Amino acid sequence: MADQQARLAAMVERLRQEGHRITPQRLAVLRVLAASQGHPSVEQIHERVKADFPTTSLATIYKTVTLLRQLGEVLELGFGHDASRYDGQRPYPHPHLICLNCGEILDPDLAGLADLPQALAQQTGYRIVNHRLDFFGLCPRCQKQD
Ligand SMILES: [Zn+2]
Ligand SMILES: [Zn+2]
Repeated sequence: MADQQARLAAMVERLRQEGHRITPQRLAVLRVLAASQGHPSVEQIHERVKADFPTTSLATIYKTVTLLRQLGEVLELGFGHDASRYDGQRPYPHPHLICLNCGEILDPDLAGLADLPQALAQQTGYRIVNHRLDFFGLCPRCQKQD
């Protein structure tokens, strides 16, 4: 929770610095992104924001998410034909666990994973500027349904 509050404050601050207005709807989008529960798609963010602001359009969500992505305040996970998913809590590259059945996306907290880019840079001499580490499978809940 403390993380979410800090992320929300950081995103609000950044938008203000760049001269953008923080409307109540926009703040609601930032809240959803700061929590990034399950790494929502734009449509899922829209659903959550509509609970409090029923008249919010999908275009408003798109604009806010695009703006934050351009500012580096949200991480976009693209999946070809499927809708992109977003992480505003950790806006930097990090590993993800993805359920192929229900679409849940988690941030695994496994020792060593976060150190991989640096280890790779050391071993190869590459200066790593970005990386993508996705693990696909079935979450425990979906395995039980089989
Ligand atoms: Zn699942
Ligand atoms: Zn994530």
